[in-house]
Amino acid sequence: MIKVHDKTFVPFITREDIQKRVGELAEMINEEYAGKKPLLIGILNGSFIFAADLFRGLTIEAEISFIKLVSYKGTTSTGNVVTAIGMEEDLHGRHIIIVEDIIDTGKTLSSFLPEIHHRNPASVKIATFLSKPEALKYDIKADFNAFNIENKFVVGYGLDYDGLGRNLPDLFILSE
Ligand code: 5GP
Ligand code: MG
Repeated sequence: MIKVHDKTFVPFITREDIQKRVGELAEMINEEYAGKKPLLIGILNGSFIFAADLFRGLTIEAEISFIKLVSYKGTTSTGNVVTAIGMEEDLHGRHIIIVEDIIDTGKTLSSFLPEIHHRNPASVKIATFLSKPEALKYDIKADFNAFNIENKFVVGYGLDYDGLGRNLPDLFILSE
């Protein structure tokens, strides 16, 4: 058991299982993207550890860049608008792999993906470390998904609880 701030978490997925599975995803990408020089776009902050391990597993030519999403209330009926900070790359004709820490409701990605498509990439796929299928509310599906998990709060491997816990090499889940 570990404590982060006021909450108790218990071991959930070990670093060995994480490394094995992330290696498998990297292999899938190696096969599918050989000769295509994909551009991975990691979404900060949560994805940085997963993105680093996934990227290290690539043996093909590939590039990586990171962006930060800032959401604010839009004045349109769509409500929240998500803007990317730090996206300087020319995406035109590129094969893009978005790298996320976790797809929960899918809201973040569903508001951000149009911005990517707007820049005319050759293809766009999504790699996520975790998915919570029971929490999904938007039409978002990961193409490369390391683990499906139950609808409970987790920390570790880049994911935080109020800023802390990102440096844990294993994944922990909120204890009942
Ligand atoms: P979505 O837009 O898919 O609902 O939310 C995705 C974001 O919510 C993730 O990028 C992450 O920051 C946060 N999130 C959702 N579930 C969890 C969780 O179990 N643990 C942590 N640490 N963050 C989560
Ligand atoms: Mg996030």
